[in-house]
Amino acid sequence: MPSLQSVTVLGATGSIGTSALDVIARHPGRLRASVLAAGRNVDALLALCRAHRPDHAAIADPDGYPALRDGLAAAGLPTQAHAGMDAITDLAAGDACQTVVAAIVGAAGLDSTLAAARAGKRLLLANKESLVLAGELLMAAARDGGACIVPIDSEHNAIFQCLPAEATADLRRIVLTASGGPFRGHDRTQLADVTPAQAIAHPKWSMGPKISVDSATLMNKGLEVIEAHHLFGLPGERIDVLVHPQSLVHSLVEFIDGSTLAQLGLPDMRTALAVGFGWPRRIESGVAGLDLLAHGRLDFEPPDTVAFPCLRLAYAALEAGGTAPATLNAANEVAVSSFLQGRIGFLSIPALVEQTLAALPAAPAASLDALRDADIRARECATQLSSRITAT
Ligand code: NAD
Ligand code: MG
Repeated sequence: MPSLQSVTVLGATGSIGTSALDVIARHPGRLRASVLAAGRNVDALLALCRAHRPDHAAIADPDGYPALRDGLAAAGLPTQAHAGMDAITDLAAGDACQTVVAAIVGAAGLDSTLAAARAGKRLLLANKESLVLAGELLMAAARDGGACIVPIDSEHNAIFQCLPAEATADLRRIVLTASGGPFRGHDRTQLADVTPAQAIAHPKWSMGPKISVDSATLMNKGLEVIEAHHLFGLPGERIDVLVHPQSLVHSLVEFIDGSTLAQLGLPDMRTALAVGFGWPRRIESGVAGLDLLAHGRLDFEPPDTVAFPCLRLAYAALEAGGTAPATLNAANEVAVSSFLQGRIGFLSIPALVEQTLAALPAAPAASLDALRDADIRARECATQLSSRITAT
């Protein structure tokens, strides 16, 4: 009988958080949600607390504290209430868990993810923005702290499954697959007027709004190239991207002997999460097996970086190094948020990112402070550029 693994779920109310809790609930003798944390939706967090009875619940928004505390008491739960990002970071590093699911969206997830890495947790890492922003520091923190990182991005999880540690030196390249998003095949004229509702209607994956827009612009794949660089130690020129609209082949690794290994499965993040909880064993995830006959065919095509320049911008930021990926990520977060609020058009997303990168050339990123500073400056710059577009 395996021992009980206590799990902190950061971003518990989100898409990944919900999938993680679904897998946890399937293994009552093995997995237990001991800490649940969310951004600002107290009612959704309370509902999760009633279902999972964690020891601790934390809301990032300090104004949510009284409602969380009173709601837990009214439900007769023994769960302790907390509020604020510092409390979330302390819980991620504390004794209440051995495993952390890092599923906060955006750079807001950096501190808690870093803290879990430093504290040597098993780290199911969905928050790709923290790797893009501070990949070297995060990987070093995991090494020093003895944390085991299991990537919870379908592509990187696929590579993790295909790549035994002793074979890393024998890699020729990795190939990240991309669905192409809802606008695959569109040219720039067609993209000019697409709406947020169209952008977040992903053809294959059900995800939060920010990553859905990133998938539509191909910035998600760009962030994933940078993520793969940090996780697997390859330069950008050995990380390729292939559009695969069926989203059944989740990525491929090619070795120096000409062998290519791929991982396949239905597009459902519970498989990656089950790999994270169970590794090196396999546990049930609730996801059915793959019936290739029913799907019939697997198609592949190159990405269109003319219509979707974000992928090209991400490769360039990786190449430039230093603060450039942090700038790219922050500008993108501002641009996506402006787009989702209906303040700028879809094509302004890559334009804002490109202009921000041009305005703030890459500088060395020796410390976390330098990266945080780059993040703040890029947000200010992109916000200004965005309000100029809104004003015209
Ligand atoms: P989501 O928008 O559905 O959920 C985000 C979660 O983060 C919510 O619980 C929200 O309350 C919380 N949150 C937001 N701001 C916060 C803050 N300041 N402090 C604390 N919590 C905060 O997003 P998602 O789709 O679940 O994605 C989460 C992360 O996982 C992202 O980094 C995304 O790129 C990555 N990811 C998601 C998928 C997917 O299938 N959804 C796949 C691969 C990677
Ligand atoms: Mg992915």
